[in-house]
Amino acid sequence: MELELQPLALPGIPQERPIVIAGPCSAETEEQVMNTATSLANRGIKIFRAGIWKPRTKPGGFEGIGVEGLAWMQRVKAETGMLIATEVATPKHVEESLKAGIDILWVGARTTANPFAVQELADSLKGVDVPVLVKNPVNPDLELWIGALQRINGAGLKRLGAIHRGFSSYDKKIYRNLPQWHIPIELRRRIPELPIFCDPSHIGGKRELVAPLCQQAMDLGFDGIIAESHCNPDAAWSDASQQVTPDILSYILNLLVIRKEKHTTESLSELRSQIDECDNGIIEVLAKRMRVCREIGTFKKEHNMTILQTGRYNEILDKRGAQGALCGMGAEFVKKVFEAIHEESVRQQMEIINK
Ligand code: PEP
Ligand code: MN
Repeated sequence: MELELQPLALPGIPQERPIVIAGPCSAETEEQVMNTATSLANRGIKIFRAGIWKPRTKPGGFEGIGVEGLAWMQRVKAETGMLIATEVATPKHVEESLKAGIDILWVGARTTANPFAVQELADSLKGVDVPVLVKNPVNPDLELWIGALQRINGAGLKRLGAIHRGFSSYDKKIYRNLPQWHIPIELRRRIPELPIFCDPSHIGGKRELVAPLCQQAMDLGFDGIIAESHCNPDAAWSDASQQVTPDILSYILNLLVIRKEKHTTESLSELRSQIDECDNGIIEVLAKRMRVCREIGTFKKEHNMTILQTGRYNEILDKRGAQGALCGMGAEFVKKVFEAIHEESVRQQMEIINK
């Protein structure tokens, strides 16, 4: 199902990259919301985010201030002129948010992972024209992410965007949620007109990763950034370690280098034709390798040998991995490539043997 999209068309927000949405993980108190929003507005941020209902991994944590906080959001809008955004996970949240004049809704990562919940949200949004940003599901499943966008689009909402917030993993090392950039890149390839935001706060999980992740997202041509910012991050009631002050956030944003996406220079097209040449070469060599494999298949058939000779396979993987590393490539990458090549070679030999 193709998405039928329209531009986000956020009133008063310039088209240029990045569109920035910033604010605390959670609305905690009226004072915290107002202080944070005013500081952000003074630094040129035009869209304020705050979680009103918070999905927490375990019970007992701060689960959001609830509807009371919506009045604070309204105050932000009235006093700073910022647009206001919050997360919705149930039809009730949608109803309350729309009643309060929330300008942008987002669907959280845990909700995107649940088609029943997304469908209920979509049904509750029927006939409403509000921008909705859909975070990736917690698990690295592009189809699930696209499926959620399709459900909301199916309800008639056309101003949609995606938020890349990284993917859960059992071993948390550098990142809180692994970026797996190839997934949002594939989303861009599949739905080029869909704006993509990066959430460096939930990917990184720590303050020092916010700046490099924002830059990486810009280098990849993302359209926007949604970042957590708190007037007193250390005292935040949720996600304290990943929130930065409005001051730091504006410093980070000012240092970003924004490269033009469609700026094709002479030298770039020259380099691209070199890439085309390399790829043609790779295909030719692969085709030659497969021809040889088929000959080996014929030999094995005539001599009644098994296709898979494990010793030889391991030798190839080890040798190629080491060769690749010598040429400046990751041994793991080279191993993966040769695993794929080997799989196809075996398939080709099977064809010969079963003829
Ligand atoms: C959030 O944005 O505060 C949030 C809960 O994010 P996610 O759904 O990405 O975990
Ligand atoms: Mn958060």
